[in-house]
Amino acid sequence: MVKMKTGIVYDPVYLSHRIGVHVESHERLVGIMNFLKDKKVMENPNFELIQPRKATTEQIKYVHQESLINEVKEVSEISQVTGHIQQLDMDTAVSAKTYDASLYSVGGLLNGIDEILEGKVNNVFAAVRPPGHHSNAYKCSGFCIFNNIAIATEYLFREKNIKRVAIIDWDCHHGNGTQDIFYNGSENGDVVIFNSHQDGRTLYPGSGFVNDIGSGKGEGKIINYSMPPRAAEDIVMLYFEEIINPICQEFKPEFILISAGFDTHWTDRLTNMGWTIQGPATYLKSIKTMAEEYANGRILITLEGGYEIDKQAKAVYNCLQVLNNNDDNLIEEKPRKSGEEVLNYVNSKLIPELKEHLNPYWNCF
Ligand SMILES: [Zn+2]
Repeated sequence: MVKMKTGIVYDPVYLSHRIGVHVESHERLVGIMNFLKDKKVMENPNFELIQPRKATTEQIKYVHQESLINEVKEVSEISQVTGHIQQLDMDTAVSAKTYDASLYSVGGLLNGIDEILEGKVNNVFAAVRPPGHHSNAYKCSGFCIFNNIAIATEYLFREKNIKRVAIIDWDCHHGNGTQDIFYNGSENGDVVIFNSHQDGRTLYPGSGFVNDIGSGKGEGKIINYSMPPRAAEDIVMLYFEEIINPICQEFKPEFILISAGFDTHWTDRLTNMGWTIQGPATYLKSIKTMAEEYANGRILITLEGGYEIDKQAKAVYNCLQVLNNNDDNLIEEKPRKSGEEVLNYVNSKLIPELKEHLNPYWNCF
């Protein structure tokens, strides 16, 4: 196997977005970093710690309205003055340091991209928070502040001369913010979004169905795969084989950005899926092979959700092993497979319907 250098973006500033007993807790990152320390990942010369920078407000404005940026800043200041956590909406909380941490969260991705494009690392895992994929141009929601991956996409287009980006979002919740932002495509490049998530009829935010395909320049480039509850990772592998791989052979993305949630695990407290700790890494392995073919192996993964701290840490470790071409993955003793009913639904309904919707836009269907 070829030796790989993998960057890990992390900084304690991400712990300063501290929102009390909220499920999107700073302990999620503490759990990941402690596990990587136990496994001596950071001592391995094939891994490199990447420190984030602060993204500029000009860069945040690539996808967000100024009013949203000002709101986050002002509410963080209220929290600073009052000493109390504030709420942007029912789900999304802000502490005194949230505004700063959010700028560093975006800036972590930007530094990761720089290191990849400069050839210092082959690929990057950004262990950042607050997460981003539910926030759209004008509203923060679903525990998310700035949409990290959408800003990273525009950064590639506007500052790095990249023309084609594939976003793969495997968080258990539909990445509705990212979809909203690129629903009509981008004026600055071509972006295809592959979103897999628990069916919106059964989970927040209730969107992301197969007939949601984008419009204008984005028509046919929003690709939603809404998985039934209890689907195991075999179902997302069908998505890769039947949909993602054929489209990418046509689209030839130059850079792959991944919104990685680890809340598809079968024990996750917020969701109802059936993945193991090996699921995301298995999926990533296929994505990586495809990235090597078209994108020179350029993959940046950013952390979104994942609420079982110990399971998430192991799943992240497994993903890092795949990024770094190592085989020593942690495997759950009991493999999980989707039931007959789930498989029948996906094979006879979900995939054929999705192909029918995409047929006018892609030669492969
Ligand atoms: Zn999620």
